Amino acid sequence: MPRKYTLARILTTFLKWLFLIAICFLAFFLAKPFWNKWIIYPRIERELKQLSEQYRTPEAIIPLPSFQGALHAHTYWSHDSRGVLEEILPAAKEAKLNFVFFSDHKRHALDSFPRSIRGIHEGILFEPGTESNLLMISPLRETVLDWNKPQDTLIREVVENGGLVLYLHTEMDHDWSNPHYQGMEIYNIHTDLLDEKGILPFLLNSIVNGKKFKHWTYREIFDEQTDILALWDSLNHHRKIVGYGAPDVHNNQSIRARYLEDGTVEWVGSNAKTIGIVEPGWKEKLLLGEPDMAGWAFKWELDTYFHSFKYVQTHIFTDELSSRSIKEGLEKGRAFVSFENLLEAKGFQFFGLAKDGTLSGIMGDSISVADVAQIRAISPYPVDFELIKNGKLIDIAEKSYTFDYQITEHGNYRIVCRIRLNGKSVPWLYTNPIYLY
Ligand SMILES: [Zn+2]
Repeated sequence: MPRKYTLARILTTFLKWLFLIAICFLAFFLAKPFWNKWIIYPRIERELKQLSEQYRTPEAIIPLPSFQGALHAHTYWSHDSRGVLEEILPAAKEAKLNFVFFSDHKRHALDSFPRSIRGIHEGILFEPGTESNLLMISPLRETVLDWNKPQDTLIREVVENGGLVLYLHTEMDHDWSNPHYQGMEIYNIHTDLLDEKGILPFLLNSIVNGKKFKHWTYREIFDEQTDILALWDSLNHHRKIVGYGAPDVHNNQSIRARYLEDGTVEWVGSNAKTIGIVEPGWKEKLLLGEPDMAGWAFKWELDTYFHSFKYVQTHIFTDELSSRSIKEGLEKGRAFVSFENLLEAKGFQFFGLAKDGTLSGIMGDSISVADVAQIRAISPYPVDFELIKNGKLIDIAEKSYTFDYQITEHGNYRIVCRIRLNGKSVPWLYTNPIYLY
């Protein structure tokens, strides 16, 4: 057999195998994303639409307005974000937020306030805060925080001066017995991301499913934080620790480009780091368009402000939309956490009623057991209610708009609402407890 012929045959066989392996490889990694695109995500949207069509405006029993917002978010002030008001504001509006409490990484041990984005813009309240040593601090006043101080001194001083101290990233160890901090994250998107195995499946799923199903590709990371919830329940055994949900948004898992003043182009990659500054070449001419409001002429983003803001929100019952009032409502535990990209939770309420049917308190309140005959939760949609007492599931009601429970004993009572999605029961909402003593 001529040598040339043998070589050609070997080469053809090699290419055939290579082609086959490539097909198998693609099929293996792309089967799930396409299954999601054609079957799972449309099913999820159908099921959610069906639920939202059953919306009923709940009777307003709690005599306070409620405000929904994001606690724990980053701006350009953080080393790992480039977020500016021009992109944060429209995202917050679209996600129907009333407030955003920022938690920018500190730049120095002496951390001055106010700074970064603040005030009310187009009806949305923005309050600066800092994230360091697994704490989020919103001093709510002009001050300089000194991070050289012992942590318990710092926490005490902030709280005594009317500020807010929250424990972040609660999968990590904290001084849980500190007597001053007011709240802890019971859900954080970043915390949830930690147990994912590899970024490739997530990335491919996002690419295949694009903008249309972005809420669901983003939510692929979701796992109920059972250890953190159990820890939260155990801490509440000793004193009130308020639970809240944190988007921890940085908008920094992206590839973006913008024109600099001198006409060069800055490419920005993961964690908001500059990849390179170049003279515009063929690549830039092909990819870059008109700069958006924030100046980006090209962007491909995974964790946008909008999708993170919509993912998890904290609703707070309080007198008015001011930083002081939001902080007070939160500190009192008059708050619940919702996965707002599933269903919008406005209208949900959880409260206690006296024997004569009058309101004796709402979530977060400490009330004498003698003053409460029953507790009630009202949802705008038919959901599955779970009643957790001192960390233990004690009662359920399925596919209901209301949940009632006759009170005979003291304890911490909180509600979890679940919905059924794609054959699974998933949490939609967590309230803070009503504390009956
Ligand atoms: Zn953060």
